[in-house]
Amino acid sequence: MGEFDLIERYFRRPVRQAVLGIGDDCALLQPAPAHQIAVSTDMLVAGRHFLADVDPYTLGHKALAVNLSDLAACGARPMAFTLALALPQVDPLWLAPFSRGLLALADAHGCELIGGDTTQGPLTICITVIGDIPVVQGRSLALLRSGARPGDDIYVSGTLGDARLALDGSRGTLTLPAAQLAAARQRMDSPQPRVALGMALRGVASAAIDISDGLLGDLGHVLGASGVGARLDTAIALTLLRHGRDAADTDLAEAIRLTCVLAGGDDYELAFTAPSSERAAVQAAAAASATPVTRIGQIEVAPGLRLVDAQGAGVANTFRSFDHFA
Ligand code: ADP
Ligand code: MG
Repeated sequence: MGEFDLIERYFRRPVRQAVLGIGDDCALLQPAPAHQIAVSTDMLVAGRHFLADVDPYTLGHKALAVNLSDLAACGARPMAFTLALALPQVDPLWLAPFSRGLLALADAHGCELIGGDTTQGPLTICITVIGDIPVVQGRSLALLRSGARPGDDIYVSGTLGDARLALDGSRGTLTLPAAQLAAARQRMDSPQPRVALGMALRGVASAAIDISDGLLGDLGHVLGASGVGARLDTAIALTLLRHGRDAADTDLAEAIRLTCVLAGGDDYELAFTAPSSERAAVQAAAAASATPVTRIGQIEVAPGLRLVDAQGAGVANTFRSFDHFA
């Protein structure tokens, strides 16, 4: 099978929203009036972000999910994406489930594959997603990292730490009951990007980011961009570890559970801030998007991140987030 047959068979489908999809030198999109275009790229490299023998269906899902998560963090509505693929060989037994996993998530979010590039090489998947964000009375509704203000509440969507539990459990550095490992693995392999929540938080949240490298590190980016500091409640943070609340997990040391939640990474939840006057609006956004959110702290004037326990006593911050070049 040649390059063009491969694209035709696995990736080309009837065009829906785009003006022009796969097949020409460029795809064409028509932006809606009074909207900005949001663009984000993420690259996944075999051996670095996933193991080459990972299930291709879940890999297809995850490759797009991590990109959609960036659109979610900005409050953008997904429109389209491109796919640049380096493949060691043309293997229909890999390509068929990969494209099914990828396109199933694309359909779920109305995000159309409009082009890409295909080459021979070590397995690498690079996706660029395109979304739109309304501009109301000359003001963009995009959620940025730079908008957090002292006094704002800090929230996290869903649960945190399962992906890290799964990673440590798979590597054998942590012993987990089989059912719990399987459930945590499901979270690691098939993250659900919080697109509906991001869109519902337009005009409500003051800042947002998606948690890909660990809560403390990613929240740190918001604090840096906003020129503020924060206080986080570790007792509330601990409740975010879904499996940490199950009876079977109570033997996992608190320090391990806290590490999973605060520095785990690969969660693809949203961390966001909102003025305390917006608490009802935040709950309404959570309800409208059927996404649980938890208030875990507050933005403060003094730079830096302070962890406190249920009694308000300081907790040493020795947690490190993921950095590819560290
Ligand atoms: P060019 O030579 O202009 O780079 P190609 O011959 O590489 O174009 O690709 C032909 C068409 O197929 C283009 O519309 C391109 O966007 C699309 N395409 C190539 N690879 C992929 C892919 N992996 N997924 C989706 N579309 C692709
Ligand atoms: Mg090309």
